[in-house]
Amino acid sequence: MSTQLTLSQVSTQLWQELLPHIQYFDQANRDLVELAFTQMVMAHNTDQRKSGEFYIIHPVAATITLAEMKMDASTIVATLLHDVPEDTTVTLKDLAKDFSPEVIFLIEGVTKLSKIRYEGEQLYAENLRKMFVAISKDLRVVFIKLADRLHNLSTLTHLRPDKQYRIALESLEIYAPIAERLGISSLQNAIEDEAFQYVHRDIYNQFVTNSNIEIDRRNKILDRVLIKTKLVLTNHGLAPQKVYGRAKKYYSIFKKLDNKSDLTQIYDLVAIRIIVSNIEDCYYTLSCLQQEFEIINHRTKDYIARPKANGYQSLHLTAYDTESQTYFEFQIRTEDMHEFAEYGVAAHFAYKGQQRGQGSSQFVNTENLKWIKELVDIGQQELSPEEYLAKVRLDLFNDRIFVFTPKNHTIDLPTGSTPLDFAFRIHEDIGSRTIMAKVNNHIARLSDTLKNGDTVEILTDKRQRPNAHWLEWVKTKSARSHIKTYLKRGDRD
Ligand code: MN
Repeated sequence: MSTQLTLSQVSTQLWQELLPHIQYFDQANRDLVELAFTQMVMAHNTDQRKSGEFYIIHPVAATITLAEMKMDASTIVATLLHDVPEDTTVTLKDLAKDFSPEVIFLIEGVTKLSKIRYEGEQLYAENLRKMFVAISKDLRVVFIKLADRLHNLSTLTHLRPDKQYRIALESLEIYAPIAERLGISSLQNAIEDEAFQYVHRDIYNQFVTNSNIEIDRRNKILDRVLIKTKLVLTNHGLAPQKVYGRAKKYYSIFKKLDNKSDLTQIYDLVAIRIIVSNIEDCYYTLSCLQQEFEIINHRTKDYIARPKANGYQSLHLTAYDTESQTYFEFQIRTEDMHEFAEYGVAAHFAYKGQQRGQGSSQFVNTENLKWIKELVDIGQQELSPEEYLAKVRLDLFNDRIFVFTPKNHTIDLPTGSTPLDFAFRIHEDIGSRTIMAKVNNHIARLSDTLKNGDTVEILTDKRQRPNAHWLEWVKTKSARSHIKTYLKRGDRD
């Protein structure tokens, strides 16, 4: 007897998995989701993914991601059906018999974008243009696209290495920054973390073998601190809506280390999140924790009274865990603040029963969307695909740049990085033996600031050694620490 599950077994399982996630809908909307689910299963039928799994696993996974964000019914239905017109014989016209024009518009928006590929600059630029136009018409298209991409990333192991790299790189260059701009940090972090290992494999491998960073150890610390936290809160008569631990994702550690900090300056490698019902409880919770934990007082931050520039609100409290000799952070916030922190703009699209507004029209004027309009505008200018892509990347990244090796491999660096940073990023042996750099085929100073899209070539000489000036010429933490290590060793010699 085969251990392989049949289509009907798998689809029943998937429905059971999805059902608890859509309980926020009323019965009519749940029925609509069930109809979409049934149509989706019939359309994809026994089609398989590269992994050998039934195709239907993919749309359901993407749908669960968006259902966790409590997205409206049209988005949920469209996500279930997002690959049907593209990959099956069922057409948009067929679907239009059962589903609203709004749903059809969303599926069409996603389908048009399904061919975006990070190869062939012409085609890629063309598809990106379309994507930003689609997003500007209805933001929900991009939510579906992000959830779709996240699940594809989580199944990348089944693809060829060159494809893995290309898709992961595109996710870091285009999709994660879009999520970031929209404030959807839950999707941004998840996408970045899935893509990280394929784009920066060496650094990723260092992280998973470094006991200070490796996630299992941090989760163990969290488990322990969490028990104490809950006990403390109960003893003070507090019953928060939610208390949970979060281990900082690998990729966000990578970004922090790269910009300015070293590991000892990152205080939120582990954090406890406490969601309470009102602002008063935020401050009361803070004072209770201050009494019971070893608190680093000068690090306490009140982002409720003074929100961050992006609107983020929470109270942050840094504490020290003696047993693991680790700092950790309490993040205290209300449910509204939490939803905004995790879902950003998408929080506005959350299903709110009968009072829900019509589609996306209510958002077109938000300040957040200005950049989308700018991206659409860039798409209307007469630019070569290369120029267009360079402009889009530039626009999407405030603090990171993408430069190229002579062999056209992309390297991302913090804004302000120099050819010397680039050299150390390639390899510390190349960095320490750098004598000259060429940027776009012209000789450049090692201290020059690189721009997005530059092609950088490093010339080395085996007699070359790092010197103290170099410390002023590098922006990245990793280059700095390599140079320092070298200088120390040099002193001893
Ligand atoms: Mn898909």
